[in-house]
Amino acid sequence: MTQNLLTYLYLLPVAAIIVWYMRRHNRLERESLHALKVATEAGMLEPPTLHPEIDPTVCIGCKSCVVACPRHAIRLDKKRGIIIDRAKCQACGTCTDECPSTALKKFGESWSNLFGGKKE
Ligand code: SF4
Ligand code: SF4
Repeated sequence: MTQNLLTYLYLLPVAAIIVWYMRRHNRLERESLHALKVATEAGMLEPPTLHPEIDPTVCIGCKSCVVACPRHAIRLDKKRGIIIDRAKCQACGTCTDECPSTALKKFGESWSNLFGGKKE
C-alpha cells in the first residue's frame, strides 16, 4: 500500500508536467493558426518587397543576372558570389527571369509556397 502511494506521489509531478506541456502546445498552435488566418484574410502572406533571394549552391556564375539588371543592383564577387544591393533593387524580377538555373527566386517565393501559394 505504501509502495503504491509512493509511486503515485512520484508520478503526479510527471503527469502535471505533461498536462502543462500539452495545454501550452495546444494554446500556441491555436494562436499560430489564428495569426495565419488573420494574415491570410488581410493578404499579408506576401512580403512588402520582392527582392530576389539567391541560392549560392545552385548558381553557376554565368552573370546573366548582372547583365540583365537595369539598376546595376547585382554584382559577382570573386569570393562571396552573387551580391544583391537591396537599396538599389526595385524588385522588377528581370534577374529571376534571366537566371538559367533556379538560383534566383523572388523574395518569399519559397516560403509562400508552404501556404499553398502558386509558383510562377
Ligand atoms: S529584381 Fe530587378 S532591380 Fe532587383 S536585382 Fe533583380 S533585375 Fe535588379
Ligand atoms: S543568372 Fe543565376 S546562375 Fe547566373 S550568375 Fe546570376 S544567379 Fe547565378
